[in-house]
Amino acid sequence: MTKKIKGFRSTVLVEDIPEDGLHLVFEDMLGLLSDTEECRIQGPAKGKIFLYRVDRNIHLNGKVAALIVLKCDRCLEEYNQEIDTSFFYELVPSQSIDKEKETALGSKDMEVSFYDGAEIRIGDIFREQILLQIPMRHVCSEDCKGICPGCGADLNREECRCQKETLENPFSVLKKLHEAAK
Ligand SMILES: [Zn+2]
Ligand SMILES: [Zn+2]
Repeated sequence: MTKKIKGFRSTVLVEDIPEDGLHLVFEDMLGLLSDTEECRIQGPAKGKIFLYRVDRNIHLNGKVAALIVLKCDRCLEEYNQEIDTSFFYELVPSQSIDKEKETALGSKDMEVSFYDGAEIRIGDIFREQILLQIPMRHVCSEDCKGICPGCGADLNREECRCQKETLENPFSVLKKLHEAAK
């Protein structure tokens, strides 16, 4: 069974997942990231999810692709970054887990996560996956020159002015001050 969904505010009830699984296709997920996050969605954000029940656990295969806007740490300009990733979760009902089991669960290729036993919030999963893809350092390009801490010039576009200012005759500055005081 395949369902097409606009937007991302989707919650799937576990009881609605058919025996042979449920395909969900998401389009136009603008606004998936909230304003509080360090970036926002810019271009088309799409996602796909396949949900499959294994007893009370849910296997979730998914893909998400989006264009996001980040701010460069060096020059403070915004730039675009493409996100395209696939993921696999095993969702376990949180009330059925005791602490001892929890540690034994995780395997390398699979992310074990919890759900409340009744519903799965797909938007949260997409959001988590996008945020995981964002590098710690945001750099618009590897050779971004950044901003001069001295004069504040954007060194990608303009020359640093620090040199000039120190070379200027200090007496001319004094003279100007003197004139202004008159
Ligand atoms: Zn930059
Ligand atoms: Zn400078």
